[in-house]
Amino acid sequence: MEFSCATRKSDLEKLDGKEFDVLVVGGGIVGAGITNILSANGLRILLVDKGDFASGTSSNSSKLIHGGLRYLAQGHLLLTRELLKERNYLLNNLDFVKKMKFDILIDDGSWSRPSLYFGLFLYNLLGGKFKLPHFQTEGYSYPGFKGKFTYDDASTDDALLVIHNVVSSVIQGSTAINYLEATSFKDKDEKVETELIDKFGNGAYKVTSKIVVNASGPWVNVAYRDYTSRQIENMKLSKGSHIIFKRDKFGLNNAVAFRSHLDRRQMFIIPKGEVVIVGTTDRFIDNPGESEMSEEERNYILDSVRKIVPSLDQKEIIGSYSGIRPLYGSGDDPGRVTRDFHIDITGKMISIVGVKITNYRAASRKICKQIGTMLQTNIRVTDLPKIVYKRGNEDPLESALMKECALTVEDVLKRRLGYYYNKEDQGKPQVKSIEDRISRLNNQ
Ligand SMILES: Cc1cc2nc3c(=O)[nH]c(=O)nc-3n(C[C@H](O)[C@H](O)[C@H](O)COP(=O)(O)OP(=O)(O)OC[C@H]3O[C@@H](n4cnc5c(N)ncnc54)[C@H](O)[C@@H]3O)c2cc1C
Repeated sequence: MEFSCATRKSDLEKLDGKEFDVLVVGGGIVGAGITNILSANGLRILLVDKGDFASGTSSNSSKLIHGGLRYLAQGHLLLTRELLKERNYLLNNLDFVKKMKFDILIDDGSWSRPSLYFGLFLYNLLGGKFKLPHFQTEGYSYPGFKGKFTYDDASTDDALLVIHNVVSSVIQGSTAINYLEATSFKDKDEKVETELIDKFGNGAYKVTSKIVVNASGPWVNVAYRDYTSRQIENMKLSKGSHIIFKRDKFGLNNAVAFRSHLDRRQMFIIPKGEVVIVGTTDRFIDNPGESEMSEEERNYILDSVRKIVPSLDQKEIIGSYSGIRPLYGSGDDPGRVTRDFHIDITGKMISIVGVKITNYRAASRKICKQIGTMLQTNIRVTDLPKIVYKRGNEDPLESALMKECALTVEDVLKRRLGYYYNKEDQGKPQVKSIEDRISRLNNQ
């Protein structure tokens, strides 16, 4: 089935004045997961994103599918159990979710050996495995560290997970349009009327829907304020940045978890194809559009990781990226705000804050049940959302452009092929040929 710049154009031509059961604002993991379930239920759904699908936080995470040892250490047992259950499902069902071994390093100021032993044992158990952790010192060479435990988790291409949910929704009958911003929401005749603006300058549209799902991630309060003139108190934004290095500088097979000697925060070194990704930071911010890594963050990550690879130099950074965590909770320490999610229903708008990539399926099911209550209809959620789209053997660029609605070079390199996050050259040599192919498509 085609899902491309051409189908986008014809969807836009038919859009003005159209009525939907549900308008989903935000094509990150939350909006995509919900749309996928609602599509399987045969509802009339429009999903819009003001950028590309997954262009917000959902392509800028640490790309781990994990229970979060840190959440366990903070006492969030139920959340960790849910995340591990979801991790196991995704590992068993999606070929781009892959098992990853983690070496967790011990030094003087970090976790104590017995508490980590117990924590990992419990983590394995909650993940469905009776496995005793094993402490290792032999053949072990990180300077300043005494040894390591090794445990299993998983990693993925976060954006690809979103794209697969979006395309699955389209295959099941929904309309999904990227680069279309929802700019205002008004109650009108028992429905909500929403104004949408094409970010490529091709006009404005009005649609109506019985309800609006506000899955706009860091921007949830922008849409919420427009509709209610209030804001969701306790919603917080925390920025997290990562630096990308060449993999050969690190010479590792397993991912590494360690505590920064600067402030004892947990950090990760994650191998991805030809590179490693090192992060992350956790800083409260006010502006949801703040998507650049600051110099202070870069120095923090560099200084922290130099404890493991002392010879690392700033010149060896090949890329960086930042994401904004939409969180719901209180407290002054971003690291301690719960990573569980919050649902707000006000009038005909349902807003969601704080779903992780890992538990998007479980969260989407809970949210869809609430949507069913709002619509006074029974929504089937069992075994959903399902990925019904699978790439074939064709050229991945053709899949990206013709079946996954990539519209720009960045859409292709970051959110369809992932080269920005897993290749040393970040796909730069392909830019010209991708540009040519896109321009031929636009002129057809
Ligand atoms: C640094 C970092 C590391 C993380 N690591 C992990 C991890 O390893 N594992 C994990 O499970 N989770 C991780 N997370 C958490 C996870 O990435 C996020 O919780 C999740 O991606 C949030 O998804 P979302 O759909 O709510 O938001 P987003 O992905 O931001 O999606 C919201 C979308 O809404 C769109 N939008 C906004 N306003 C409008 C509008 N008016 N009209 C149309 N569209 C609009 C935006 O363009 C955006 O694409 C991490 C988060 C960060 C920041």
